[in-house]
Amino acid sequence: MNPKNKETGVSRRDFVKTVGLAGLAVAGAGATGALAAPEPPAAAAPPGTMPKRKLGKTGVEVSVLNLGGMFDTINNQLLLKQSLKWGVTMWDTAEAYGNGLSEEGMGRFFARNPEARQEIFLVTKLVPKEGKLTERLDKSLKRLQTDHVDLFFIHAITGIGQMTPAFKAWAAEMKQAGKIKFFGFSTHTNMADCLAGAARLDWIDAVMMSYNFQVMHDPKMQEAVKACEKSGVGLVAMKTMGGGPGAKKTASPAKLEMAEKFLKRGFTDKQAKLKVVWETPQIASLCSQMPNLTILMANVAAARDQVKLAREEVESLRQYALETQCDYCAGCGSICQEAVGGAVPVNEVMRCLMYHRYYGEPELARETFAGLPESVRQQLTAVDYSRAEQACPNRLAIAQLMRQAAEMLA
Ligand code: SF4
Repeated sequence: MNPKNKETGVSRRDFVKTVGLAGLAVAGAGATGALAAPEPPAAAAPPGTMPKRKLGKTGVEVSVLNLGGMFDTINNQLLLKQSLKWGVTMWDTAEAYGNGLSEEGMGRFFARNPEARQEIFLVTKLVPKEGKLTERLDKSLKRLQTDHVDLFFIHAITGIGQMTPAFKAWAAEMKQAGKIKFFGFSTHTNMADCLAGAARLDWIDAVMMSYNFQVMHDPKMQEAVKACEKSGVGLVAMKTMGGGPGAKKTASPAKLEMAEKFLKRGFTDKQAKLKVVWETPQIASLCSQMPNLTILMANVAAARDQVKLAREEVESLRQYALETQCDYCAGCGSICQEAVGGAVPVNEVMRCLMYHRYYGEPELARETFAGLPESVRQQLTAVDYSRAEQACPNRLAIAQLMRQAAEMLA
């Protein structure tokens, strides 16, 4: 017997089969990774439904797959509808995504489907440097056509020192006003230090950080994840494909061999990269940019089938991470930034290159690059990066990549 799923109208077997084929279509550039001691991922969910996990001390059960809103949500209303239908009930957006347009698209969806707002665990974020947080949060809520968000993040911090007592007071005020339920921050830089710091602050409910097969085995990262678990800080993973800033377009023999192995198990290497992140039980949800139905379907299938990676598959991802780390920027920005006397936030520029080359999003790459201080953009090619290259644990060709960034993104 192969019963039809109530949500999708298709049987689990058909769904996985269809998605397997769709997954083939999206299998492309990318790498792979692993975790030391994979144990039970999500809470056991009925077959064919989206598993949920508790987001730390918030106590809220969130879907293990989370819709990253860095795409044109205004013109992709069907995708929002379908993600809800398939159980992706955590949605993530930000003021910075499309300069408010991502929030606006989600708001239009809630306006047309008011009952949906109750089902969605909604997250938005603000970059703090421009100030006026309350005023800007009010504008975000207006665009989102809601009176509150479930989780609010200070966007993209680079060090825990940025989480000052002023933010603690502001978060308490916003909670009191009913505008936010929970509070935390997101980070792509110095993630392990930021996480360890969050674990020491009792007013941080959750953190979203870059976390993937490339960085998950770092002992410092593993320790920080455990510290957050101990203090109840909920964790959300992002940048889970582990894409790098380099220009490599062709798949290496190692990648093809690995992809082939996964296909024999019925999923793509990209789906395997999601699965390996879910092997970390402390990760409540994985935020993925899913700008079209094909990717949404492939990712939903990976979450729903609950098939765990075999130990040797986890190991092959880990091996692949080692082989490709010279093309991956691990976000340890304090190392290279210090080596260039603070002149250039190297890993921020690397992120722009990744958006351009790995995500295939030149506009987003240029927008993010344009958000860097003018002085950084002007002196990008004038700085001596030799010390930074020596210090970089992944041995990235920093000077060459900075030159490419100046040419491509200016
Ligand atoms: S360039 Fe190297 S040192 Fe700098 S953040 Fe990336 S991996 Fe770390």
